[in-house]
Amino acid sequence: MIKTKRCCHCKEIKIIKDFNKNKSTKDKFAHACRLCGKKQNNEYSRRNREKLRQKAKIYYYENLEKVRLNKREYAKKNRKAELKRAKDWYQENKKRKYEYDKKYAEANRDKRRLASRKFKKRHPSNSKVWCAIRRASKLKAMPTWVDKNELKNIYKNCPSGYHVDHIIPLISKTVCGLHVPWNLQYLLPIENLKKANHYDPYSYGE
Ligand SMILES: [Zn+2]
Repeated sequence: MIKTKRCCHCKEIKIIKDFNKNKSTKDKFAHACRLCGKKQNNEYSRRNREKLRQKAKIYYYENLEKVRLNKREYAKKNRKAELKRAKDWYQENKKRKYEYDKKYAEANRDKRRLASRKFKKRHPSNSKVWCAIRRASKLKAMPTWVDKNELKNIYKNCPSGYHVDHIIPLISKTVCGLHVPWNLQYLLPIENLKKANHYDPYSYGE
């Protein structure tokens, strides 16, 4: 077995591990070493950028399902590394992203408003859940260990015409309730309005 080989490009003699495999050569290794091969590749892609881009695009659309599956598989396999990469990127580009998001939001205000309205219409229970969660977490009323799926189901199963009500209100003068399943009940809007964040410690628990 061959242990070393001379690179046709830099003329250096290197160990075989420094050469890429290549089925079309006699000894099944590339003529140029890995380093030179990489340089050549870079040079090639720089000179043919447009052509390669076009080629990649065509491949992408012709193999849509395959590409998507590969991406998904890759993401699954490299979940931790990808998360870390995204986190690192965010840390490095925090300010830039903030500026970009702000600009984008300003430029697309109407579009975003419309999209959010559409989303709410399409997922009425879902958007109610998230509104409630956001409100509750703002008030620090939702413990982190609460089962969000259980909350979701309560909102999802709310009979039509009823509101989801916090038995002990999230905000009241005497006590503050939690956003947890056992503090939720279905109420008719009229009862809910009558209650209006009023908590009567004497009537509760009767
Ligand atoms: Zn070389």
